[in-house]
This record gives sequence, structure tokens and C-alpha cells, in this order.
Amino acid sequence: MKVLVKAPAKINLSLDVLHKRPDGFHEVEMVMTTIDLADRIELSEIKGNQIMIESQNRFVPDDQRNLAYQAAKLLKDRFDVHTGVSISIDKTIPVAAGLAGGSSDAAATLRGLNKLWGLGLSIDQLAEIGSEIGSDVSFCVYGGTALAKGRGEKITHLPAPPNCWVILAKPSIGVSTADVYRNLNLSNVSHPDTQAMMDGLRNRSYKEVCGELGNVLESVTLKMHPEVAHIKDQMVRFGADAVLMSGSGPTVFGLVHHDSRLQRIYNGLRGFCDQVFAVRMLGERLPLD
Ligand code: ATP
Repeated sequence: MKVLVKAPAKINLSLDVLHKRPDGFHEVEMVMTTIDLADRIELSEIKGNQIMIESQNRFVPDDQRNLAYQAAKLLKDRFDVHTGVSISIDKTIPVAAGLAGGSSDAAATLRGLNKLWGLGLSIDQLAEIGSEIGSDVSFCVYGGTALAKGRGEKITHLPAPPNCWVILAKPSIGVSTADVYRNLNLSNVSHPDTQAMMDGLRNRSYKEVCGELGNVLESVTLKMHPEVAHIKDQMVRFGADAVLMSGSGPTVFGLVHHDSRLQRIYNGLRGFCDQVFAVRMLGERLPLD
């Protein structure tokens, strides 16, 4: 038997870090939304009792370092599953890009194995299990639009953003999230207004959402990698309504309301960016099959 699952990327409409906790994690407030840029995960039963990972992408680990592997292992151990599974990851989301590709693969694996192995877990139970794998996995289990608090695992669902295009541009560098957090100096940053972003979503106001984009981690990544700031400037120059770096970067996204501007921005960025995508926000929560 086989199950196919989509693993969509996320962007941060706002990302704030409140303080570092005694357990070493950072207390965050993030408004996230899923976008129509997705990896495809195929889960197939295999003989034996092993978890196998396959991917054509050389940056994706094929062993226990893979977050999808960790998701399968956790479910297998907790629910005493004695069948083997092959996890094939068809990667579209750029790796180490601030788009939660690995977390989304783990979340999709949880959702898919729940079906393949007939575990009958609820979406809330899957999100709870996901939080043991990584901070963004709970959000990725639900998809849609949400405020994530704590270290990212406390989820409050929010209305979908107003309909618009999202242009993503990733320079040819990878950024380590751990490095960015290590270099974050909270005494010297301007914090986004998370409440105002949530109000903008509740008011279904494109203008307010654009006006409230903010990411405290830009203070670190833009200094480490000036090309990220350059891409932001270029996106504005080509006509994006608002721009921001997603997660710890280096991917920059721009919001665009009018179809007519989309081609101009896309073509302009293609000239000097490694990867450029034009996608829609998904906005609504993912259905549990
Ligand atoms: P985040 O913002 O959640 O830290 P990211 O989007 O910046 O993540 P990922 O694409 O998840 O970054 O990759 C970060 C690292 O995780 C990679 O360098 C890779 O070694 C490891 N990794 C583990 N599992 C996966 C996976 N399924 N896909 C991609 N990378 C993975």
C-alpha cells in the first residue's frame, strides 16, 4: 500500500523573539502561513522493519538526521508498529532556506503514516507529537495561517491572508537557523507588532498585512549576508507591495496584488537569484484524510 502526501512550505508574516528561556530555547511569536510550494512525500510499505529515506536532492540527509525519518521513528516506537516503510521525498522547497521544508516533510510523514498504519490519531494529537521533532512541525501538521508561540508549538489558528501572489527569491546560500539565533542581540532590535498583524488578518486587510510584515531575525541575517538586503531592495524596486525575509532566511518573499506586476518582478529577479518562485498562499488548514 502507498500514501502520497503534500508538504507545503511556510512563510513568516511576522517573527518576533521575546527572550531566551532557561531551557535554551527562545520564546517566540510568529505569524505563519502555508504557501503553494510543496514537497511530495510518497510512503510505501516495504518488507522488514526498516525506515528507508530516498531523495534525489543531495542536500537532503538519507538517515536518522532527516526529520521525516524522525517522524516515522517516533510513531513506530510509540504505537508499536512492526512494518517497514520507504519515504520518498520529491523536493521542491529549497533546503535551509527559512521555508520549513524539513519540518513540513516531517509533518506530512506524520499525517501520511497515520493513514498508512491506520493509527486513527486526531490532527491535534499529530501536532503534539510533531512538537517533539522540531519547533515548526506542529504548525506544519495543521497548515493554514496561525500564531505560533512558546518555542513555536503553541498554535492559535487565524483567518487566511487576503488573496495575493507571493514571489520568493532565494540566493545561493544556506543559512543555519541555530547560527542566526546564536548571533541575535535582543537589546538592539526593533520588534514587529504581532497583535497588529493579527488584527490585519482578522480585518482581511491586505494593506494592514503589508504594513505589519516584520522579522526580528533580519537584524542578524542581513548583516551576515548583504545579498539578502539587496534582494529585498530589488523586489521593492521591481514593484512588490511589501517584502520580508522568511524565518532565519535567506529566502526573501514579496507580496503582490496585481497580476500585471508579477511578470516584471519575476523576470527582474531571475537575473541574479538562484531560485525564484511565484505562488499563491494556501491560507486554509490542510484536511486530514
Ligand atoms: P527552519 O526554518 O525550520 O529551521 P529551514 O527551512 O531553514 O528550516 P530546512 O530546509 O528544513 O531548513 O533544512 C535545514 C537542515 O535540516 C538541512 O540542512 C538538512 O540537513 C536538515 N534536514 C533534515 N530533514 C530534512 C528534510 N526532510 N528536508 C530538508 N532538509 C532536512
